[in-house]
Amino acid sequence: MDKNIKRIRENFPILKRQINESPLIYLDNAATTQIPVSVSKKIMDFDETYRANVHRGVHTLGMWATEYYESVREKVKNFIHAKSKKEIVFTSGCTDSLNLVAATYGEQNIQAGDEIVVSIMEHHSNLLPWQQLAIRKHAKLKFIELDSKQQLDLADAKNKITSKTKIVAVAQVSNALGCINPIKELAKLAHQNNAVIVVDGAQAVGHFDVDVQKLDADFYAFSGHKMFGPDGIGVLYGRKKLLEKMPPYRLGGEMIADVTREGAVWAPVPQKFEAGTPNIEGVIGLEGAIDFIECVGLNEIRQHEQYLIRYLLPRIQEITGIIVYGPKDASDRTSVISFNVHGIHPHDLATALDLEGIEVRAGHHCAQPLMKTLGVESTVRVSVAIYNSQEEMDKFLDILVQIKEFFQNGLR
Ligand code: PMP
Repeated sequence: MDKNIKRIRENFPILKRQINESPLIYLDNAATTQIPVSVSKKIMDFDETYRANVHRGVHTLGMWATEYYESVREKVKNFIHAKSKKEIVFTSGCTDSLNLVAATYGEQNIQAGDEIVVSIMEHHSNLLPWQQLAIRKHAKLKFIELDSKQQLDLADAKNKITSKTKIVAVAQVSNALGCINPIKELAKLAHQNNAVIVVDGAQAVGHFDVDVQKLDADFYAFSGHKMFGPDGIGVLYGRKKLLEKMPPYRLGGEMIADVTREGAVWAPVPQKFEAGTPNIEGVIGLEGAIDFIECVGLNEIRQHEQYLIRYLLPRIQEITGIIVYGPKDASDRTSVISFNVHGIHPHDLATALDLEGIEVRAGHHCAQPLMKTLGVESTVRVSVAIYNSQEEMDKFLDILVQIKEFFQNGLR
């Protein structure tokens, strides 16, 4: 095994586990990545050294905790190249971030007859908030379709985004196809029509450098648990001038400047959107995750994922009876390959792989309209990360062929 990968794997004790008496091969990274020891240790250190609530008391521990918490906001701001840390809202995850935008910006700005444009490959988290908003407001939801390469059809986007469009909501990377979408071009189309663009970055952050200013994104959402961080923490980036005009999402402690019997004045952004005690440990863990990514290097991560996908993609495709979905060129993808094997249900295939210690995802990937478009109910999805090795790819391919032969020919 490559020395660097071996060294990186040392940070992930779970990778030494056996599953069903075989060494674990974890290929479900698009669902959740594993956590390096440095992240768990950072959370433990916080709890043993700084634990107190944030933005509250005047006591020293509380001030330290607040300073620490706010320093992570600065780190996240730098990580995604935002202009100001006021544009970084901590949420419970990507889903929460997207719901926040729909429930505040969406409620405030969408009226009957307006149009919201999403792509057909959206995860339900970036579809349902817009679909339900459109239903509530008697607005129209339009879908950008796939082109012949099973990527986002930019020509179709040009037709669908019009002067009636108020919101364009698209994933930077599809969790089901693995393709990278042309966010800059979509942002340009949205802005030419005075619409905003909401980007679901769940599958992009941590895979390559994300620059919200270069993308010209108005809102950008992502989760900690898909980038080596803990569960239950996420980020919403929003342009300051938009966040300032939006009503609060949840009401309660810490999001106010003043409360009287009759009314309330909201705190400035981003506190206006962080009601109640936040997930402080999650924020500390997110810092650890960014440190880990920066220590390994985003270029190295992208290169290694590309190396594995370039290795895997042609080898999967040459197995007879396998259909791979999404672009055929690895450079149009991140770390995801979705496929089906003729005559084998994805759940059966995933279960058979699991019996050999190989963990993959099977299902509709929370993208049912996309599955309908592809003409399937579900697929098998393999998703790699920086700690996966070429040897693991070989083992996966071997077992895949064996399972396929077993299902097709039975035991001989
Ligand atoms: N969008 C995409 C593209 C995703 O892959 C996911 C997670 N599968 C989400 C949104 C939702 O993320 P979370 O469950 O962390 O809120």
